[in-house]
Amino acid sequence: MQVAIDGPASSGKSTISKLIAKENHFVYLDTGAMYRVVTLAVLRNNISLDDHEAIEKLVQTIEIVFSMQDGKQSVFMNGEDVTDEIRSVEVTRNVSAVSALKEVRTRLVHLQQEIAENHSIIMDGRDIGTVVLPQAEIKIFLVASVEERARRRFIENQEKGIEMSYEELVEDIRRRDHIDSTRKESPLRKAEDAIEVDTTKMTIEDVVKVVTALIQKNQ
Ligand code: C5P
Repeated sequence: MQVAIDGPASSGKSTISKLIAKENHFVYLDTGAMYRVVTLAVLRNNISLDDHEAIEKLVQTIEIVFSMQDGKQSVFMNGEDVTDEIRSVEVTRNVSAVSALKEVRTRLVHLQQEIAENHSIIMDGRDIGTVVLPQAEIKIFLVASVEERARRRFIENQEKGIEMSYEELVEDIRRRDHIDSTRKESPLRKAEDAIEVDTTKMTIEDVVKVVTALIQKNQ
């Protein structure tokens, strides 16, 4: 079974997807982490965002590996654990510009589709229901107000020691949503057959219940 979870920044996609994956023994793929790894590599190599040729070369050679350790998923870039670094303020600021590039999307979508072969999988991102897994049995589009999303991210960042004010978070979320939904290549949008769930006033458990019920109905 394939489950596609899409939605704007900080709408709870990864929290929900991880819980659903655990309960149902599905593979979980955080596609946002893949765009973040490429962004980290672009920044480390001081490549200009206008140099599409250099970025295309880079994205072809980069190795991205996910690994589960003690119930926690880690991300490796060319063998280096970059799980925390890809959440940095600098990567977050630049990721939407990098992920808008056709060269980057073509490569990562191909990798994502390969990973989805022969597994029951839950994938979260922006274009999963529309581009990566258009045949997914279940498609969810998670939304929540900007203020609620910033509030949740603020608490999460505090736990991780990431310094960003609530106001900065509101601005970052608005800016990323704008770039992600207006870009030419696979913009963020709800697939026609996706179910929209507004989580603003819902608990995590409520959302998990809704998705679990849909999975059970499809089994
Ligand atoms: O999900 P997360 O917020 O970590 O994603 C980071 C960024 O990666 C998004 O703001 C978006 O620009 C990009 N992304 C994308 N397509 C996906 C997943 C993420 O363009 N499938």
